[in-house]
Amino acid sequence: MSEHVSHLFYQTRARRPVLAEARGVYLWDVEGKRYLDGSSGAMVSNIGHSNPRVLEAMRRQMEKSTFGYRLHFETEASEALATRTAELTPPGLDKVFFVSGGSEAVESAIKLARQYAVAVGQASRWKVISRTPSYHGSTLGALALTGYAPLTEPFLPMMREMPKIPAPRAYLDGLDADDPATGVHYAAMLEERILREGPDTVLAFIVEPVGGASTGALVPPAGYMKAVRDICDRHGVLLIHDEVMSGGGRTGRFLGADHWDVAPDIIALSKGFGAGYAPLGAMVAHERLVGPVLDAGGFQHGYTYAGNPLACAAGLAVLDEIQVEGLMDNAARIGALLKSRLADLMQRFTFIGDVRGKGLLLAFELVADRKTMRPLPRELNAHVELVELAYAEGLIIYSRRSREGREGDHFLVCPPMIATETHVEEIIDMLGNALDRFAKRVGSTATSLA
Ligand code: PLP
Repeated sequence: MSEHVSHLFYQTRARRPVLAEARGVYLWDVEGKRYLDGSSGAMVSNIGHSNPRVLEAMRRQMEKSTFGYRLHFETEASEALATRTAELTPPGLDKVFFVSGGSEAVESAIKLARQYAVAVGQASRWKVISRTPSYHGSTLGALALTGYAPLTEPFLPMMREMPKIPAPRAYLDGLDADDPATGVHYAAMLEERILREGPDTVLAFIVEPVGGASTGALVPPAGYMKAVRDICDRHGVLLIHDEVMSGGGRTGRFLGADHWDVAPDIIALSKGFGAGYAPLGAMVAHERLVGPVLDAGGFQHGYTYAGNPLACAAGLAVLDEIQVEGLMDNAARIGALLKSRLADLMQRFTFIGDVRGKGLLLAFELVADRKTMRPLPRELNAHVELVELAYAEGLIIYSRRSREGREGDHFLVCPPMIATETHVEEIIDMLGNALDRFAKRVGSTATSLA
């Protein structure tokens, strides 16, 4: 029998098994093979799969209405989710604009920032400084902020690239991430860039408080987040936190930035916010920005599916689940255990160069040499190879090139926030087997460093 020809296409020709069922931290394909979702999809399924209370809330909403266009109706679900979101975000960040994904949340953030500047007579401000590496989304506006060469290069002629500063990768630069001087050192690069661009042209700075896929869960050095806030204030630059991956509780707090007690002017949320139950995201803005924009004729921006009641009902039920089940505390506790078990693997595998992250937003990076942090040879394609070996074991992990997308290999290990100690041991067993096979395949020895 000839193989079924798929009419679907995404990034590559690679095919995957057909998904039959997903429950909790596990997924099963139609052949009956079980996979542990060690990356929550793309760091999305934060509360696990097929949660019965979320499904029930969605069913109840579906019986009422699945769509009510926001220019024609308000809905209880979107109003309730906006209220809850405002409660979970810092004081003043009280205005919520719903979208269907992370790229839309980021686009909405930079467009609100721009319209605010125009509304308050600062139309000369349009540049949004971001970091490299970073990932802020795939639409051209969000891509212009992204520092990940393979994704941006083909589109450079079509978009207005924005100024970039280095992400604070102390572990690569041989600096002590716990020393507040390190945070100040990297934040100074922002101030220097604002001055070089001309402060009256700079609209905003966008940062992932705990890094996502592009940096592999990069945790900012001590002092960085606060110094960045101060610099933005000094130059009238708006601060946007891209919490698309770090928000929603995965790091052990609702927002990644909550670990440093720093409030931005705008927050982008998605992924864990809808937790895979519905396409959902939000741009949460300080009311001081929204008022002038609405007074000046309105926000010239929007998406048809924004505030979809079914998506909002799912989002509300997800937040309920996180709060009622104490999943943020669990993410902190199980995340600390998983991080220490990943660090243990460094004793067995000399080519693991770094383990990092917060809560259950964790990653490890492979290197050829721990002292210099020289990456593995590009052609090894470790970021693909190891993911495949883990997949064969029944463990899903997520990888990217570490060095602006050009070389280096890191792997996100981010199971759902419902994970238990037993799941951690299962992950470490399967990952250890995959790393063993990887070590054999690349001809290096997985010997103890001791
Ligand atoms: N921002 C960050 C930090 C992300 O991690 C992502 C997705 O990975 C996005 C934005 C874009 O989100 P989406 O893929 O839902 O458009």
